Amino acid sequence: MSGRFEDVTGMKLEELAKKCAICGRGVAHDGALTFWRLTFERFVLLRSAIQREHGLELMVSSPAIARVLSPNEDLARRAGGEHCVLICDHCSIHGGPLAVLAERISDRESEAAEGRGDMRDPSESTGASDAAAGG
Ligand SMILES: [Zn+2]
Repeated sequence: MSGRFEDVTGMKLEELAKKCAICGRGVAHDGALTFWRLTFERFVLLRSAIQREHGLELMVSSPAIARVLSPNEDLARRAGGEHCVLICDHCSIHGGPLAVLAERISDRESEAAEGRGDMRDPSESTGASDAAAGG
């Protein structure tokens, strides 16, 4: 158990009301009873740190000894934030590559930060009511 979420096995109305991050519809819009909650982060490798680590391995001629002598610095660093999204079953199969999803989410967050994001009335249909209709 990662312990990242208080209760990773359940989901309340507030979270279930979120739309599918790919198609923008409720997670049960097509009547499916299963969907995905994904938490993902993008990382970039730190080339100079990797080269230092590799250089140490070459110098001592043993990766195991190098691991003990290593300053244990980060070899990759998170690029951007952590994203937690819901994905409907249909999009999990037909939604396309993860990089495309990440780009869409990044664009939406940029739009929201600039104040031209989702301007719909919050009383409009939610993913939760779509889910209820699907069941
Ligand atoms: Zn979808």
